[in-house]
Amino acid sequence: MSIDREALSAAFDAIDAAFDDLVARDCDGLVPREQLALLERCEKVRRRLPAVEHPLINGLARQATAEELGGTLSHAIAESALISRAEATRRIKEAADLGSRIGLTGEPLGPILAATAAKQCQGTLGPGQVAVIRKFYHELPSWVDAVTRAQVEAKMAMEGTKFRPEQIAKLAATLADCLNPDGNYRDEDRARRRGLTFGQQGSDGMSELRGWLTPEVRATVEAVWAKLAAPGMCNPEDESPCVDGTPNEQAIERDCRSAGQRQHDALNAALRALLASGELGRHNGLPASIIVTTTLAELEAAAGRGLTGGGTILPMSDVIRLARHARHYLAIFDKGKPLALYHTKRLASPSQRIVLYAKDRGCSTPGCTVPGYYCEVHHVNDWAKCHTTDVNELTLACGPHHRLLRPGGWVTRKNAKGDTEWLPPPHLDRGRPRTNTFHHPEKLLHDGDDDAP
Ligand SMILES: [Zn+2]
Repeated sequence: MSIDREALSAAFDAIDAAFDDLVARDCDGLVPREQLALLERCEKVRRRLPAVEHPLINGLARQATAEELGGTLSHAIAESALISRAEATRRIKEAADLGSRIGLTGEPLGPILAATAAKQCQGTLGPGQVAVIRKFYHELPSWVDAVTRAQVEAKMAMEGTKFRPEQIAKLAATLADCLNPDGNYRDEDRARRRGLTFGQQGSDGMSELRGWLTPEVRATVEAVWAKLAAPGMCNPEDESPCVDGTPNEQAIERDCRSAGQRQHDALNAALRALLASGELGRHNGLPASIIVTTTLAELEAAAGRGLTGGGTILPMSDVIRLARHARHYLAIFDKGKPLALYHTKRLASPSQRIVLYAKDRGCSTPGCTVPGYYCEVHHVNDWAKCHTTDVNELTLACGPHHRLLRPGGWVTRKNAKGDTEWLPPPHLDRGRPRTNTFHHPEKLLHDGDDDAP
């Protein structure tokens, strides 16, 4: 089948024209029944759009190279549509479930969730229902056979056209119970669900911890808590907290923390002991450690905050508290200027890496969110040509982005401000070189337009 680009473009123009027409119309004279009916039609339009996106996303996933995308697929979609990485990832996963597939030998295959996909395309299933069905389907125990899976998916899709997402969620729970009344789950079912993530750091500096633990991890944490979260143990309010042995009577009596607070402090003590043990070895050429960067002014005033190589904002009180423990690096900057360190070694020195944590804070690719700990050091000017490793010629790049930088591929260069610009290879014309402001939101306030020369 040949591609008719003009017809595709004309179809989108028709949608735009229809929208222009709709928003310009006066709906005030309608009676409530008519207004509700039009809202229903709006919802139908909203529901159908993903059906247009799925083949586009799946096509990119199948064919586009990392070079063409400028990194991973979720990065490329997030950057072009200006949506969050999380939303881009969600759309990619939904497209994998609800879009058509191509088999190993190139034969076309229907969607994994065929009934749900058909009803989404008709506009009879909304995003809420689709999310419930996908979650239900993926949480089915692995022993449920393909025929049963297809049957329950079709049942859920059918009911989803008649009920709201919260009602469908109750149906999903009931169906899951009927299919698996004895709660038979295998290790692989549990392994699939396991995970642990941080939420965004709040304005008060606190972070929400979310996740699902396997029974093994729960049992392990339990054993650590039994020791370190006991009353009187690891109490930060004590002059010298008891972290091993048994706390004395006074320490136990003084301890007025809640069980939750004690468990929190125990986790901190356990992980700090692990870092201090040195048994984690090295990470990117530095001993596994907390690396904090801050400015001279903030440190002298004992106020303000530091930033870790992982992207965490630390109040100065925490920076100073951390400094009492081993395995912790502090890089200090005066008026935003990193020290110019010259090295004749190919590898960036540990001190240069610390400087980069402060300077770049994370991957320098436009729009990339990967923090410094997870980045590689890249020589902006080819080391083979200049034979010096000047920190001003270095930048951080995450794995997928670093791999784009090879002969004939993407290139980087430093602009007048010392920021790293990324340029696509000549055969991919994609406008002006850009820098990454994600790790430096304050630059948007100063410059307005960071891309300006
Ligand atoms: Zn990156």
